[in-house]
Amino acid sequence: MASWRVAASLLALRDQVNLAWPGRSRASDGTIGDARHRSRDSDHNPWIEDGAVGVVSALDLTHDRAGGCDMEKVVEAVRASRDRRIKYIIWNRRICSSSAVGNATAWAWRAYGGSNPHDKHAHFSVKASKALYDNPDPWSIGARATVSDPLSPEIATRPVLRRDSRSAAVSELQTLLRRHGHDITVDGRFGAATEAAVIAFQTALGLVPDGVVGQKTWAALLAA
Ligand SMILES: [Zn+2]
Repeated sequence: MASWRVAASLLALRDQVNLAWPGRSRASDGTIGDARHRSRDSDHNPWIEDGAVGVVSALDLTHDRAGGCDMEKVVEAVRASRDRRIKYIIWNRRICSSSAVGNATAWAWRAYGGSNPHDKHAHFSVKASKALYDNPDPWSIGARATVSDPLSPEIATRPVLRRDSRSAAVSELQTLLRRHGHDITVDGRFGAATEAAVIAFQTALGLVPDGVVGQKTWAALLAA
């Protein structure tokens, strides 16, 4: 397979986890199969074909309880949401599938006997239908703040704002910054105080602290 990409649903899941726990360890994260995976049947291999591009339909996310990114909680939140994009999840010596397997009902845990116990990362596989694997809707991940999908139309239509911008969108930005604890005036003018608040907000969320409000910063600001 000459070129490959990761399913959009899984990129959305990873973005959401990154925004919820910006400082999390990524030591056991993974998308495309390493040599060990490649010799086996694995969704980390880009076996799904979307035109000439292979699609990776599995994502590993690092268990980092100390960093707040507790895979037990993330996995249970996804499982509880019965997200229709999921094919199966492997976590901590167990596997659950979104459809019944043998005697196990849909979403019930079964023992997982693979050589890797999956206690350092959780494995998420999504279904092979493009309408599902490329669906970037927000996931239920159990985080206090559910971050909006950065690619949603609501966010894509918001303008990029920077120093000296003046518009109603700046007033909205200032209102959101106030909601996130920054004591600035809502006057529709992107001045030094607004820029400082944006940089502080971006730094706190692990975003690039450039003072420019693009889609990722809008997404984080709009998070509930
Ligand atoms: Zn995996």
